[in-house]
Amino acid sequence: MLQVKNITFSYKKTPILKDLSFKVIAGEHVSIIGESGSGKSTLLKLLYGTYDLNDGQIFWKDEEILGPKYNLVIGPEYMKYVAQEFDLMPFITVSENIGAFLSNFYPKEKQNRIDELLEVVELKAFKNILVKELSGGQKQRVALARAIAKQPEIILLDEPFSHIDNFKKQSLRRSLFKYLKEKNIACIVATHDKDDVLPFSNRMIVLHATSIMENDTPQQLYKTPQNKLIASFFDEFNIINDDFVYAHQLKVVDKSDLKASVIQSYFKGYCYLIEANLNGDAVFFESAIELKQNQKVYLSISK
Ligand code: ADP
Ligand code: MG
Repeated sequence: MLQVKNITFSYKKTPILKDLSFKVIAGEHVSIIGESGSGKSTLLKLLYGTYDLNDGQIFWKDEEILGPKYNLVIGPEYMKYVAQEFDLMPFITVSENIGAFLSNFYPKEKQNRIDELLEVVELKAFKNILVKELSGGQKQRVALARAIAKQPEIILLDEPFSHIDNFKKQSLRRSLFKYLKEKNIACIVATHDKDDVLPFSNRMIVLHATSIMENDTPQQLYKTPQNKLIASFFDEFNIINDDFVYAHQLKVVDKSDLKASVIQSYFKGYCYLIEANLNGDAVFFESAIELKQNQKVYLSISK
């Protein structure tokens, strides 16, 4: 279990994170979300022991994770960290990069392990290509494979799919997160993408204004978001009668008390997102058909 106990950290004078505490159990998948600059990357770096804390302690099991003041080599053996800017060895192949930290003592087993990892990150066809010839997204996949090569007990991923296009992203994250669950590897993922979180995370930690604003299951936070920051992370939303109502929970009906005038329709694929004016405020809802500007509609909330 990872235990974060009352940690405080600042790069300069102003604290970036203040008095944070949380736990992550073995094999658990925890997402860290928060606006850009809220300290997600800093938190992951602290968990890895990159910097010395101003205050507090971090433990994995009974072992304290200490910063550079106490350690020559940063990062404990049982933990892997994939930075937002990953660093690979450009002049050797994909396979060699992935196998860089594996023992050469059993060449056959090593090759099998590399093949298994190439499969997880869907890079089999690129195994003999030099890393310098890869795209950003392909490099990110090599970095992920290298991080799980030695089966850490816990892995820290900083926006792991940020360079990967939509064609690959869906299947890659299923494959990676499934692999981590099967091997009971705890993972902490900093992200701003709800699709990284909702289908996979056991828990979500929301960072805001140097603190943990929420620490709960995605199901709970999605169903009853307590504030705009959290609601907006999940979807387009409205506040109607002091309640959070997602766009898809607002439907066009024949008659209701909520009469709106259409401003614009945005095609979303499976539906249109409609922006409308409801008593002077903008509202968003979904409609199967495109609606014309100034068209009057009645809306009803169905949760
Ligand atoms: P996030 O990953 O959530 O976008 P970061 O952890 O990167 O946020 O940054 C949190 C805050 O710390 C920001 O205000 C950023 O400017 C500051 N910061 C990040 N890295 C450094 C650094 N090396 N030196 C000084 N300030 C930093
Ligand atoms: Mg970041």
